[in-house]
Formats: sequence, structure tokens, C-alpha cells
Amino acid sequence: MQYSDHWQSLIDFDQQHIWHPYAPSPNPVPPIGVKSTQGSLITLADDRQVVDGMSSWWAAIHGYNHPKINAAMKAQIDTMPHIMFGGLTHEPAVELAKRLVKLTPEGLNKVFFADSGSVSMEVAIKIALQYWISQGKSQKNRMLSIRNGYHGDTFATMAVCDPVNGMHHLFNDVLRKNLFAPAPQMGFDIQSDNQDDFSDIRELQKILQQHHQEIAALTLEPIVQGAGGMRFYRPAYLQQAKALCEQYDVLLIADEIATGFGRTGKLFACEWAGITPDIMTVGKALTGGNLTMAAMLCTDKVSDTICQGEPGVLMHGPTFMANPLACATAIASIDLLLEIPWQENIATIEQHLKTELSPLAELDGVKDVRVMGAIGVVELERNDLGSQIQAACLENGAWIRPFGKLIYTMPAFNIPQRQLQTLTDAINQAVKHTLAKQ
Ligand SMILES: *Cc1c(COP(=O)(O)O)cnc(C)c1O
Repeated sequence: MQYSDHWQSLIDFDQQHIWHPYAPSPNPVPPIGVKSTQGSLITLADDRQVVDGMSSWWAAIHGYNHPKINAAMKAQIDTMPHIMFGGLTHEPAVELAKRLVKLTPEGLNKVFFADSGSVSMEVAIKIALQYWISQGKSQKNRMLSIRNGYHGDTFATMAVCDPVNGMHHLFNDVLRKNLFAPAPQMGFDIQSDNQDDFSDIRELQKILQQHHQEIAALTLEPIVQGAGGMRFYRPAYLQQAKALCEQYDVLLIADEIATGFGRTGKLFACEWAGITPDIMTVGKALTGGNLTMAAMLCTDKVSDTICQGEPGVLMHGPTFMANPLACATAIASIDLLLEIPWQENIATIEQHLKTELSPLAELDGVKDVRVMGAIGVVELERNDLGSQIQAACLENGAWIRPFGKLIYTMPAFNIPQRQLQTLTDAINQAVKHTLAKQ
């Protein structure tokens, strides 16, 4: 990429001084400069416009700079950008909590606002532990998770991420030794989803049977495992997992940070299985990708148990908890989502991704192509072609960020058809050409 002198100096400083996600510093790979965004278009530093295939990591579901969300943000800035939440409250927090309680599965009545997905999961784990401490069962203090999971980058969440992807060996001495069941093997297929088929949940059951007395909660991403492998699994697995949690007296934490707010074709992925978890987290798309905010919800039973035990409170309170600007943004994003025909939009995107990406499955070097809702995944055999494919996509006018062998996209729900076509054409070309060169 050819930069102006001004941009080159920005990039140079960045490479020398700024950490990027999962990157070294100094960074040998120059990041790509971005000037502005509009809808599903990103304007790069050289004034090229490319189609955004990532929604900024699942978050920007309405595209960027949506006029309704921007207007809500501007109005809130002039009223009250921030106020502490200790002992005080405000309309944006209450209105947002009302929406979350109403829209999430029946029974999730209590809301804790957090600053990021990882923090909301920390709170979820803390609450699960405290639930048992309050009942004098502090030996129930381990987490059970399923492999290929991803729940965040902080220490408690790292310890429930997939042990290999999450690089547990690095932090072996400090990470809590949790329990892991194999990832569900059957994919998402509601037509042939057999409730009575327990084959891929047997191991989970065995672990629960053996260890339930020391397990506080099962954490999982419902239906779609995101950053730990972009895998989709069947609703029956989730129903069976919920039933097992009840049978063995273990809480269920559903991490909807990636799946929440429509991405899978349901507002929340738990709806595919018709279950209410004991604890649920949302983030990412909560503010339409505009500000950092997440939330943890739990049932009355969980919160009542905690508040009737010692010390009777939830010991957590981030400085920027329930930031009014973020709350107002989230309200605008949720209201907009409910106003648009989001289910139709997602069905259209799903059909398009299936039609355009499925033929890649025939290529040598492609292991699998899978599509669910507004998520398209091309899984390669090799895990070292991501950056080449990314560069080729960018040449063809689309921004994606593969990881390992996974080339994937999750566009905004309102992406114009023509831009969606540019996106899938770019992915198609990039995958074909890159594989052909090997
Ligand atoms: C992104 C993600 C998180 C972590 O959220 P952050 O806001 O990045 O801390 C947790 N769980 C899932 C499923 C995610 O996709």
C-alpha cells in the first residue's frame, strides 16, 4: 500500500509503539490505515474503499455511522456522557436493562453492566462461584467447558477457553485447572436433529457424573463456537447440556457475546434450543459495535441465593459501569434492530453466502464450507495461508481477517446486495487463486 508522508509517519509510529491484537511489538507487519467508515464501506488511508466483511468482530451489525445510532450518541453526549453508577442511576441504564430483560430468554431478570465481553464473563464466573459459596458449598469451584470454546482474554476467562487455542501451557502455573469436554461433533442441522441421539454429549455427561460435586458451572457458547474454531452445533446438544446441568446441580453460563442480537438468525442462539441458562453474557453487537460495553444477566434464583448468603452483595463494580453514552448507544442499536426486518435480512445473507461460498468446498485444500445465519466460514486444510488470502481479498475490494485455517465473514445485517456480492467474489477469488498457487 502506498501511503502519503503523513500516513507513513503514523504507521511508523504505530509499528514501533502500539500493541495490536495478538501481535508482537515492534510489529514487523504494518497495519492498514483507515480514514473513515460509512455503512459497510471502509475508506483506507489511500482513499480506496473496501467492503467490510468482519463487522469489526461481530459487532457492527448495522454497519458504521448509522444515522439513528449516531444521533442517539450525539444527544447523549450533550446530556450526560458519563456518571458513576455507585449509588446513582440514570434513564439510559434503566431503559437498556428493560430491553435486555424483555428480549433475552424468559427468567433472566437481573442485569450487570460491564465494560467488555471478557469482564462480563469474569462477572459470570464470579457469580457462579459465589452462588455455591453462599450455600456453604465452596468445594463447587471448578468450571466445566467444552473444547474449541472462546470466552475472553482475562485470566478467569482464559482458563475456560480451549486449552490449546488458549495456550494454557504458557500460563500453566497460574491458570485454574478446569475441566473440558470434547466439542460437539454433530453440526447444525435442525432437519435431522435427533433429540434422542446422545452420542456427542456422553463425555460431558461422564465428567458431570464424576465431578459434579466440584463443578460450579458449565460455560459454553450456544450453537456457534466463535473464535475457538467457528463451529456450529445442533440445538439438541444445548438442550441435553441444560438438562444435564439441572440433573447434576451445576449452573449453565451461556456466552452470547458473539451470537447475541440476531447473528445466527434468532435474537439469541439459546432460542434455537428453547432454553434459559442460569447466567448469560452479551457484548459485541450490544452497542451496534460503536462503544465498548457488555452485560451479564442472571435468574432471580442465582441473585437471590447470592444476596441471602455472605457477604450479601456481588463484589464487582467497574469504574465505567453502565456508562450512559454506551447505554444510549445500545438502546438505539437494539431499537433499530427490532425496527428493521432483521430476520429477512439475515435469511437473505445466509442464502447468498451458501450459494456463493459452497462451491469452494470442491477445491483441493478446502476442508469444509459452512454457513449459518449471517456467518460464512471456509475452513482450509492448511493454517498458513490466511495472510495471503487476506491480502488478495483486499486487492479485490474486501476486508476480512482470517485466523489460522479459517477464512470467515460476518457482514452487517444491512449490507447492500452489491457489496455482499463484492465480498463473496473477493473471498472466492482469493481462496481459489491462493490455493492454485500452492
Ligand atoms: C469476543 C468474545 C468474548 C470477549 O469479549 P471482549 O469484548 O473481546 O472482551 C467472549 N466470548 C465470546 C464468545 C466472544 O466472541
